[in-house]
Amino acid sequence: MTPGGGTYEGIIGSHNDNADYDIAPESIETRASPHRKISALNGVNRGVAANSAVHELLECPICLNEMYPPIHQCPNGHTLCSKCQSKIRCCPICRHELGNIRCLALERVAESLELPCRYQNLGCQDIFPYNIRLRHEQSCRFRPYNCPYAGAECPMTGDIPFLVAHLKSDHKVDMHDGCTFNHRYVKSNTQDVENATWMLTVFNCYGYQFCLHFEAFNIGTAPVYMAFIRFMGDDQDARKFSYTLEVGANGRKMTWQGVPRSIRDSHLKVRDSMDGLIIQRNLAMFFSGGNRQELKLKVAGRIWKEQA
Ligand SMILES: [Zn+2]
Ligand SMILES: [Zn+2]
Ligand SMILES: [Zn+2]
Ligand SMILES: [Zn+2]
Repeated sequence: MTPGGGTYEGIIGSHNDNADYDIAPESIETRASPHRKISALNGVNRGVAANSAVHELLECPICLNEMYPPIHQCPNGHTLCSKCQSKIRCCPICRHELGNIRCLALERVAESLELPCRYQNLGCQDIFPYNIRLRHEQSCRFRPYNCPYAGAECPMTGDIPFLVAHLKSDHKVDMHDGCTFNHRYVKSNTQDVENATWMLTVFNCYGYQFCLHFEAFNIGTAPVYMAFIRFMGDDQDARKFSYTLEVGANGRKMTWQGVPRSIRDSHLKVRDSMDGLIIQRNLAMFFSGGNRQELKLKVAGRIWKEQA
């Protein structure tokens, strides 16, 4: 296999424009901020005090989640959320058959409430009408991040310092300081691409953490290796950085320049959008040198901050 052939140019060329990069929609948080002003202006006269008695009223007795309109009740007035109502036939409290009765009074109480974001203890200061709050919370910039470790579905969530400590202690991830790196990947069984092979290394630079992912998988039936960088933080900060990755040998070199993806984008989403350095196996073997039994790839890279 001769490197630098048209196929590779085609692959690289088609991704240089970052066409697959999904730009996060304008955050609901920004759009929702007027609600805070409304509540500040009218807060005293408007709405029902969000005291604990009201909270108890709005807790579904079955799933213990907060109830949002439509809220249901049994003929005796025991309330429950619409999800639970669709799953059971009899009231869990009085055993009466449920039917399809709404509890409009409680729905109106819910609609009149204004509550702080559930991530208040993580730093979110915003206050929202009851039914808008849920939507805000799904994109609140203070919401916890998922663990960026790929390979196992790790349920851990938290803020960045917590996740960095977690990667170090629970996933034994290598941590490096500095914005340039030269990483060597060695893999003995090169035929074994189907069993997703992956490696994660974390770099500390500019006061942030960057995840360098390296993995093997198939595109269709073609085995490839892929390296890409994710940013441990939100997309708006991720976009302030660029990076390059390089792999080569024997006078040939492949270079990828990209923008780190926020870890808000799942590992799989980034991989499937092919937003990174993709090396077909034949070329990887060529760069690897020696016999074809072992893969030895040296990936060099650099992260830098774009001028604002
Ligand atoms: Zn429920
Ligand atoms: Zn009942
Ligand atoms: Zn929030
Ligand atoms: Zn984890």
